[in-house]
Formats: sequence, C-alpha cells, structure tokens
Amino acid sequence: MNDCLFCKIVAKEIPAEIVYETGRTLAFRDINPQAPTHVLVIPKGHHATAAVLADADDGLADEVLKTAHAVAVLEGVADSGYRVVFNTGLGAGQTVFHVHAHVLGGRDLTWPPG
Ligand code: 5GP
Repeated sequence: MNDCLFCKIVAKEIPAEIVYETGRTLAFRDINPQAPTHVLVIPKGHHATAAVLADADDGLADEVLKTAHAVAVLEGVADSGYRVVFNTGLGAGQTVFHVHAHVLGGRDLTWPPG
C-alpha cells in the first residue's frame, strides 16, 4: 500500500520510535500520546481495519494481541492495568486505515471513553 502511513513506518520510510517487533507485528509510540504509555501495535501486512484482520483467519489477530500484552509488560503497565483499543471505522474515530491497537496505560483510565 504505497499511500499508507503505517506501511511506510513498516518500510522505515517514515521514522517511528519502535518499542517491540515480531516477525509479523510492529509496536511503536503514538506521535500524539494520550497517556504515559501510548503505543500502537500493527500487523506489518496491510489490513485496513480490525474487522478485516478478524477475517484474516491466519492467527495474525492473535499475534497482534500477544504483542500488545508484551508491550504492556515491557512498559511496566501490565500489573497496574492497561487498555487495548481498536477504533474501527470512521464513526469510531479511526483515522489511519491500517489496523492498529492502541495500548494505553500509566495513568488512571476512565470509562466510558468519549
Ligand atoms: P486512530 O484515530 O486511527 O485510532 O489512531 C491513529 C493514531 O495514529 C493516532 O493516535 C495518531 O496520533 C497516530 N499517528 C498519526 N500519524 C502518526 C505518525 O506519523 N507516527 C506515529 N507514531 N503515530 C501517528
């Protein structure tokens, strides 16, 4: 996907602060953090939304979730509590259409979200 921002981060065409990586996933800090820990976890291959990822049926969604948890452990927020969010679709606030899990932690997180 030539015009995809996160594909460009995977290709190292755009810099990002990478915190963790597996064969098929990449985790990097959000450019506009909403919490002390705010890391985005993506599959390296282009899938537009969580719905598309869920249909991929190749264990990739599982790997994204495992990477999210690994990031929480690395960031030291696994015990205090953290949130994993997939904004899915325009109506939910998704702005980058390469699926990403937001991993948020390091402060009290209120519910419901806005
Ligand atoms: P969404 O609104 O799609 O759920 O989340 C997109 C996220 O990507 C936002 O939190 C935004 O701050 C982040 N973001 C947008 N552009 C960049 C970028 O160039 N680099 C990084 N690291 N994060 C970005």
